[in-house]
Amino acid sequence: MPLPAWVPIREELRDDEPYGAPQLDVPVQLNTNENPYGPGPGVVADIARAVGDAAAKLNRYPDREAWELRKALAKYLGHDLTADRVWAANGSNEIMQQVLQAFAGPGRTAMSFAPTYSMYPEYARNTHTRWVSGQREEDFTVDVDRAVEQVKAEQPDVVLLTSPNNPTGTALPLDTVRAIVEAAPGIVVVDEAYAEFRRDGTPSALELLDEFPRLLVTRTMSKAFALAGGRLGYVAADAAIIDALRIVRLPYHLSTVSQAAATAALRHEDELLAQVDALRVTRDETATWLREQGFEVAESDANFILFGRFDDRHAIWQGLLDHGVLIREVGPLEWLRVSIGTPDEMHAFRKALLEVTR
Ligand code: PMP
Repeated sequence: MPLPAWVPIREELRDDEPYGAPQLDVPVQLNTNENPYGPGPGVVADIARAVGDAAAKLNRYPDREAWELRKALAKYLGHDLTADRVWAANGSNEIMQQVLQAFAGPGRTAMSFAPTYSMYPEYARNTHTRWVSGQREEDFTVDVDRAVEQVKAEQPDVVLLTSPNNPTGTALPLDTVRAIVEAAPGIVVVDEAYAEFRRDGTPSALELLDEFPRLLVTRTMSKAFALAGGRLGYVAADAAIIDALRIVRLPYHLSTVSQAAATAALRHEDELLAQVDALRVTRDETATWLREQGFEVAESDANFILFGRFDDRHAIWQGLLDHGVLIREVGPLEWLRVSIGTPDEMHAFRKALLEVTR
């Protein structure tokens, strides 16, 4: 629905739609890469207790610096990180927006390599940043020489790399990240929203932080930690980079309730992450099954799979929805993305897919 002409919105926003996948109430929801396993009763009780304690203090503003939470996040990440090298916000979405507010903006350029997370150009639009898109290869990997050439040509102030990439699931080798950081004149962010799901032997860019002060690694509690509703994203970087982000953050951006819930959840790291291995197994089984049925499948280090190819992917998406299975119509035109759910949910997906495509 276009906005009425009298609404004095910025002209470049006038024809845009709010971002987001359809939120439909169907039995099998495999469209937003959530963790299908909710927190267990022990975790729920601890979060409830922590939020209850926080409620008694809601007359006061939150800890602006979220120290307790940042300490817990630094401990979780390891790599000798300390709280002054970690920053938290309302989802990694907010982190990324703060990154562009601090390091991009009018007269500056941000770039990424498509197909990738479709929110990136929107952060650029919102912060009046010039947006440039490089291209991934046919198999969705990033060709290091081509990427370095493009970075040198465009001189971006911020490069956003996604590993594992959404919607393709592709992880980046550290040599690629290293080469891009060395070629880039400014900030390089590796968005590791799905890092916990990566296959054995796939590295994390956290390993490179000490080598490159202009490197940032973002993570989220929305996926592996099963805390999408808690809205907690974070970033690890040099302490001076964190100080730069603190300049653009809104005062008291992270509520006392959010801080309490996330800090309590982190006390149950082992239990919350226990389902990650199960999800990785289900992902690999799903990929094998899809290949056996003759579908093309992108290699995935994440909790979702991009598969194809379809002449009319919308018809397949709609057919699945008619069977009560919601997946995501996203990425390259002939492909669809399915999030990894429970074995029962994946059974429903497989059954529906066969019925729709055969
Ligand atoms: N980065 C990537 C690559 C994502 O796929 C997502 C969520 N879909 C996000 C960041 C944002 O996650 P959140 O704001 O929930 O932390």
